[in-house]
Amino acid sequence: MTIFGNALILLCAFVAMEIFSGLFHKYLMHGILWRIHKTHHQKGKGYFELNDLFSFSFGVIATAFVLRGAAEFDWRFWVGCGIIAYGLVYFVVHDVFIHRRLRWIEKSNLRYLQALRRAHKAHHAYTDKEPGEEYGLLWIGKKYWR
Ligand SMILES: [Zn+2]
Ligand SMILES: [Zn+2]
Repeated sequence: MTIFGNALILLCAFVAMEIFSGLFHKYLMHGILWRIHKTHHQKGKGYFELNDLFSFSFGVIATAFVLRGAAEFDWRFWVGCGIIAYGLVYFVVHDVFIHRRLRWIEKSNLRYLQALRRAHKAHHAYTDKEPGEEYGLLWIGKKYWR
């Protein structure tokens, strides 16, 4: 596989993760997995939330792809890298920028980041399983770009 082919696999895995995690969030986390996810909507005291299990699980899956793919250096390696890239972006945008679990970024003048924060805050305006809106993170509705 050429470098472009590998980059394309990585990019597709990244885009697929945004779609997949949006659906996963909407139908499972706000469905049968609500008991775990609600620790993110109804904040408790501690720094860690049961909801962090999801990030951890995706990390384990991504690592499995990378390790399995590294043996033959095939497409699975690049899928794993795409999932890890998405996880890193998700962590910086969601946990650092929006929820400020680490004080790395306080503000941004980037319209896109401001819109992302508004969209995710709209998601958090709901503290119950249903109803809800804006389940994705990076692909957001037009109305948040004001
Ligand atoms: Zn949610
Ligand atoms: Zn959140």
